[in-house]
This record gives sequence, structure tokens and C-alpha cells, in this order.
Amino acid sequence: MALHAWTSARWTVPLPEGHRFPIAKYARLRDRVLAEALVPLERLHEPEPVSKRDLLLVHDAAYVGALESGALGAAESRRIGFPWSPALVERSKRAVGGTCEAAAAALEHGVAVNLAGGTHHAFPSHGEGFCVFNDVAVAVRALQREHRIARAAIIDLDVHQGNGTHAIFAGDGSAFTFSMHGGRNYPFRKVPGSLDVELEDGTTDDHYLDVLAEHLPRVLSAARPDVVFYLAGADPHEGDTLGRLRLTFDGLERRDAMVLAACRDIGVPLCVTIAGGYGLRIDDTVQVHVNTVRVAASFA
Ligand SMILES: [Zn+2]
Repeated sequence: MALHAWTSARWTVPLPEGHRFPIAKYARLRDRVLAEALVPLERLHEPEPVSKRDLLLVHDAAYVGALESGALGAAESRRIGFPWSPALVERSKRAVGGTCEAAAAALEHGVAVNLAGGTHHAFPSHGEGFCVFNDVAVAVRALQREHRIARAAIIDLDVHQGNGTHAIFAGDGSAFTFSMHGGRNYPFRKVPGSLDVELEDGTTDDHYLDVLAEHLPRVLSAARPDVVFYLAGADPHEGDTLGRLRLTFDGLERRDAMVLAACRDIGVPLCVTIAGGYGLRIDDTVQVHVNTVRVAASFA
């Protein structure tokens, strides 16, 4: 069966010259996924914007209102890292919609991918680190409200810790948050999740995969999830300017395959989001994401 995927690349955001966020990666990823026939055109969907009702399952009304009306303060905008624009609000809502729709498709088909999302630094009342809304948290809450799931596991392998996600689900036994990240990397004040694994600067494939293989089965048996969300960040790659780790393309592909296989083996649906990636060369970041989609397609 072919993979279902969601792209919100059409809704881009104007950024100042030299801005470090690679907004162009989304369109390049969409184009590569189509060119390499990893997802057939009829299964590549464009999401609706997430509803306000769903957003408010996670985010404070004051924060959502300030974003929608452009009333965000300068300090709040700086913390997010993007200048405010109506396009930023639209794109952020579409990206969350993509994760919600991909999660619903995962429940139906076993695996689905959002070619965006993984914005795990967004908290209920503020955004930071290039994250406006917390897509995965909104999707979990929306599926719980509809009684389509009771429990979720979040496997966050972006190189940065999912501090916002951890804060949202702190003390909530229905969502297990697992994060493997650079210990010395942003965010410098980490928020404990259900299980945090900190990695040394310079960590390479073999050690990374050993550690992941050790923890993954325990995470899934402790979480007893009805659905798994996977943040397949490209930023552990050795060519990443923010990552500090030294994983290769091959190591990251084996990482993805390990997560996909672990979920398939216990029959749990998996929603993949691409999360971060700040390669010195944007095409390296896109390549990591393309490889993730290829692995996911092989499990669809
Ligand atoms: Zn990251």
C-alpha cells in the first residue's frame, strides 16, 4: 500500500534575508517525494488549517488570540524566532492540521507522514525555537477528545529536547514522552519528560543506535500507546549547524527503520513528523527527510 502524506509547503512564510530557518526545505521535500514516487500524487494531501477549537485543547486563548490579531509583543516574537505575519499564522495552523490529519490516517492505514510539524518547543502560552503551535500535542488531545485513542507515545528524536511537549503532558499518564537529544544543546533549561536520554556532543551512529535499541522497547511497553508520534528530526546529522552530533545519512535511516519496525511489531499506528534540520547545506537536511519518507513508505 502506498503512503499517505501531508504537505503545507504551499503556505510559506516571508523571512528576512539570511534568516537561519530553512523555510525552503518544505517545498524541496515535497518535490523530491513526488519526483522519487515515494508518495503518489493522489496520496499527497494539503491540510486544512487546524480549528480553533482543537488549538485551544492545548494553547491558551490569550496566546492564540494575540497570534491571530498580530498583537504578539516584540519579545514574544523574538522568542519564536520568526517575524509575525498573517502568513506565519496561516502556515502554523496548516502545519498543525497536517499532523492532525496524518494522525487520523495513521489510525486507519498504520502509518502516515506530515512533511512538516514536530514543533515541540511550543508551550501552551508561548512559542519558542521556531515553534508556534505544538502540533503533536494538539493531535493527541483532539484524538482523545474524539475517543479515537486513549493513550499516546511521543518518540522525539529531534536533536533538541521537546521541552514544550514535556510541559504540556507533565503529570498526564495518558501520554508518554520520550526524548533522545544533545545534552548540551538548546533548550538549556530542559523540562523533564517521561524518559529523557541525553547524548554527548559528537555521538556517532553505532552508539546512538545502541542507546535507541536499548530504550525503544521499554518506552513502548511502558507507554502502552494506541498511537505513536515520531519526531524524525534531521538535526542529529553530522552536517547540521545546530546539532552537535555526528550521525550519517545511513545512521539516521537505520534510526527511522528501527522506530518504524518497533511500532509495526506491536501493531501500533505511527504518525511521522519531520521536525528540525539546519544543515550547512539545505539539501543535506532535505535528504535526511526524504530518507525518512522512503523508510516510512516501505512500511506502508
Ligand atoms: Zn531540533
